[in-house]
Amino acid sequence: MSQNVLLKASERPAWRVELANLVSDPDELCRILALRPDDADRVRRACAGFRLRVPLPYLSRIRKRTPNDPLLLQVMPQARELVETPGYSTDPLDESQFTPVTGLLHKYHGRVLVVLNGYCAIHCRYCFRRHFPYQAHQINAEQWRDIIAYIRQDPSIEEVILSGGDPLTSPDKVLSKYCADVADIPHVQRLRLHTRLPVVIPTRIDRDCLRWMSDTRLQVVMVLHINHAQEIDDDVAEALRKLSHAGVCLLNQSVLLRGVNDDVEVLAELSRALFANGTLPYYLHTLDAVQGAAHFDLDAARVHALQTALRGRLPGYLVPKFVVEEPHADAKTPL
Ligand SMILES: *Cc1c(COP(=O)(O)O)cnc(C)c1O
Ligand code: SF4
Repeated sequence: MSQNVLLKASERPAWRVELANLVSDPDELCRILALRPDDADRVRRACAGFRLRVPLPYLSRIRKRTPNDPLLLQVMPQARELVETPGYSTDPLDESQFTPVTGLLHKYHGRVLVVLNGYCAIHCRYCFRRHFPYQAHQINAEQWRDIIAYIRQDPSIEEVILSGGDPLTSPDKVLSKYCADVADIPHVQRLRLHTRLPVVIPTRIDRDCLRWMSDTRLQVVMVLHINHAQEIDDDVAEALRKLSHAGVCLLNQSVLLRGVNDDVEVLAELSRALFANGTLPYYLHTLDAVQGAAHFDLDAARVHALQTALRGRLPGYLVPKFVVEEPHADAKTPL
């Protein structure tokens, strides 16, 4: 990172410049989108818990003067986040017990999830990681060696998932080395990335990143995170096209969010838009019971009705699996 800071702006990859130009002030966001600021003091307190962070390419897809825009609702801090809701926790998944070595979660058979860094290009208000001490989760060289040693000694591990935060906020020099280290372990077949960067900063999918993804012997799977068809503009479509060309298998997971995508036509349109861009719907997660996000939650009957309606409308391969993550289950639990 420090090395990149020393480069002249013109020599930095475009995506790093965009990553440095995030909107993080709610007043500025309101100014850009011609919105009247709402309850400034409490919005500021909501930001203190979990900062506003939105990159300009994503911001450009939010409609002006539209307080209920489905993209705006995902990023705009709101006063109602401060309401304490019983039953909503700050560590809903109780993950610490599945961590054999720092930064690695081994919860399900055959795959491990590596929390590569704690940094995201966008802050999604419903995220269950909103209460994590983000910067404390940063894998260093020694921890990475321990992670590789752990994967090497367990032949049941076929797939390594790079997650975060967002793994694609790391430089390609680091990622291509990590990819090579994983490819060097004979029993690993697949490298998976859980990322929102191709959606929020599409220039992230540049030559350097496509090179290591297409050069590896591993099958590369990318699980994107898109909640609404309006998030896919021409630049995102182009990034997805490049990834498909490079042989990356594209899947998408979404979170079911009240006011954003809790509507059968909105969900159907999302599936169609994904497929038109070479991406299959994978999971539709119900909200984790995380403190500060209760206003996005839906009751079980509504979730069930949406699932039934979506099945009645789309071919089976365009219906995402509706799942909930239970702290001690050995896979995501279908609804
Ligand atoms: C969700 C998750 C995975 C991936 O699960 P899949 O069903 O393979 O997508 C792996 N490890 C952990 C800890 C997870 O939370
Ligand atoms: S990009 Fe993913 S991990 Fe980061 S805040 Fe959004 S939902 Fe959470």
